[in-house]
Amino acid sequence: MSDENKMVEAWIKFNCAGCQRPIRVEDDMGGLEFPCRKCGVVMVIPEKSGMTPEIVSEAPTPKKKTVSMSMSMPRGLGAMKTEVSQKTADSMASTFLGGLLAVVGAIIMGMFMRRGGRA
Ligand SMILES: [Zn+2]
Repeated sequence: MSDENKMVEAWIKFNCAGCQRPIRVEDDMGGLEFPCRKCGVVMVIPEKSGMTPEIVSEAPTPKKKTVSMSMSMPRGLGAMKTEVSQKTADSMASTFLGGLLAVVGAIIMGMFMRRGGRA
């Protein structure tokens, strides 16, 4: 009979250190690390109910609530972005260079024309 009572008490209840959601684990998990599936914070499960868990590592993205995001955090996106911005920078540079050359060319042409006209 007392065993049954113990079964009921055999839980550690605490609130997530990140999102404050109530978490319940078996009491032999006290002291283990527990990653919150909702907010991603990893915390140490307290030994007793009601204690504040100690944070092991903060959530990487605090406000994201999708669990599936971990499977498709694309590396290609970063690469693409870099490529695009590099292309943009390139075209900007060439436009700038082209403009500069045109201006310089016009000045030189003008100088030549003037000289030619005078001499
Ligand atoms: Zn949480």
